[in-house]
This record gives sequence, structure tokens and C-alpha cells, in this order.
Amino acid sequence: MLAHQAFSAPAPVRALLLIAGTTALQGPCADWAATHRRHHAKSDRDGDPHSPVEGFLHSHFGWLLRDRFVRTGKTYASIVEDPVVRFVSNTFWVWAGLGLVAPFFIGLAVTGTLAGAWIALLWGTAVRIFISHHLTWAVNSLGHTFGTRPHDTHDRSHNNGFLAIFTWGEGWHNNHHAFPRSPFIGLRWYQVDIGGYVLRLLAWMRLARLEWRVPRGLLKRKTAAAKAA
Ligand SMILES: [Zn+2]
Ligand SMILES: [Zn+2]
Repeated sequence: MLAHQAFSAPAPVRALLLIAGTTALQGPCADWAATHRRHHAKSDRDGDPHSPVEGFLHSHFGWLLRDRFVRTGKTYASIVEDPVVRFVSNTFWVWAGLGLVAPFFIGLAVTGTLAGAWIALLWGTAVRIFISHHLTWAVNSLGHTFGTRPHDTHDRSHNNGFLAIFTWGEGWHNNHHAFPRSPFIGLRWYQVDIGGYVLRLLAWMRLARLEWRVPRGLLKRKTAAAKAA
């Protein structure tokens, strides 16, 4: 939504989606989108914040230790033109903090015991963040190293079905680099894309509008060109 404008949504839906995303503890949403745009602009070349060309572990999480996270600044100022985005991004620690402590209190309310609260904190905070970070990072590391390349994208992005199941479709990463504006990352009926299904549902409920579709002819042409190469 922020990086590619693949879909738009009314302000309350936009805010809820951004707040939900913020609880993943991966930095302010506007800066996340700026980092991602830089990745597309420089994919696997000089200036890509997280390319395996600089080493597999670098692309997984080493890039964060080397301070490669991109701030919006002047280059990506258009991302923060939307006051909803600006607000959620500027209040990052409010939502991230709520996401960190909420499982504890939910556990306490549901079980009525301190032990239940700690167990909820373990699974709802620590394990959740550990798994979601590694899955996001795997799109940058595994997704740029292992799999198939049906589209000739001038980078090292790969389609990886195994990764796609656990990352809600993001593992079809060669598709994504070929058609970044597509709200669907799975482009064939057999390419499982849970994120795409959620968007389809939101669009059907009129809570989101899909802004672009991959034209059938273009998909065929790109695939044929990659096969010929
Ligand atoms: Zn990529
Ligand atoms: Zn992208």
C-alpha cells in the first residue's frame, strides 16, 4: 500500500492496517516503505539496502546492524504526504509498545493467573516477533537466492513456493519484482497468495480498492521473453 500503491483504502482501514503492521516491530511504516522503494530502485546493485550480493547473512539481518534502514527524507517525501501515514509513522512506539505488552494483559484477563500472562507474553510477543522477523528477512535473503526466475527482472529475485506459504505470498518474489504494482503476488491459480486473498476479500467488502492488475498479455510476453533468454 505505501511502497507500491497497489491498493488504496479509506482512512480508518488504512490506519488499522498500518497500526497492525507497526506491531511487527520493523520500524516506522513510512521508513519501512522508503527502505523497500530503495530496494526496488537498486535491486542487487550498489545502494540496495539488503542484497545477498553483499552476503547471505547481510541480506537476512546484517544490513540492519549496518544501519541501512532508509528514512523517508526528501527522496521519499511523497510517502508521508498522507496525514494518516505520517501520524502512524510518527507514533511508532505507541503501537509497537502496545503490541509488545498487550499479550501479557490479554493472557492475564483470559486465564486470571500471572503464569498465564507470562506464557501469553512468550508466545504473543517474543515468539511472534522472532518468527515474523525471520520470515520478512527471508524474503530478502532466500527470496533473492533460491527458487525459479520466470521473469527476466535484472536482479536476483526468485519465486519460492515454500517461502510463499509462510509469508502470505511474498515468496513469489520474482513475480513481485516483475510487477511491483500488482496487489497479487501469486500470478497463477496454483501460486498460493494468502495476502492477495485477504486483499480480494477487503476489495469485495469495499474496504479497499485494487489500483492495478497485471494485463494478461504483459504477463505472457514477460514470461516468453524470460524463456527465450
Ligand atoms: Zn526483492
Ligand atoms: Zn516491493
